[in-house]
Amino acid sequence: MAKRIKKKCILCGTEYEIWCPTCKEALSQPIWKNEFHDKNCLDIYQICSNYNMKKISVKNAKIKLDKCDLSKKDDFTLNTQKIIKEILDKSKIHKQKQTKRIKDKKDSD
Ligand SMILES: [Zn+2]
Repeated sequence: MAKRIKKKCILCGTEYEIWCPTCKEALSQPIWKNEFHDKNCLDIYQICSNYNMKKISVKNAKIKLDKCDLSKKDDFTLNTQKIIKEILDKSKIHKQKQTKRIKDKKDSD
């Protein structure tokens, strides 16, 4: 008989239910459902780990993060919060540097 099992999202800690992995119903649920309660959490986790492994740039990570729902950021694991903060901070600095460079160029002209 099909069974539902309780899970806890590894990113935000939300409790949710999935089909028992050995049930045939489990075939219709995405594999990420084993670890994340929704697609948003999966996306954020992937962006952070890709950034952490330097697979994507800060700029790229920021663009991707902008498309995610970060309203529950405080519930995320501390490590993820740290990485998100780093991405946001660094992309800010990046912008400031760029405007400064333009300004410096103007001054020297
Ligand atoms: Zn979640």
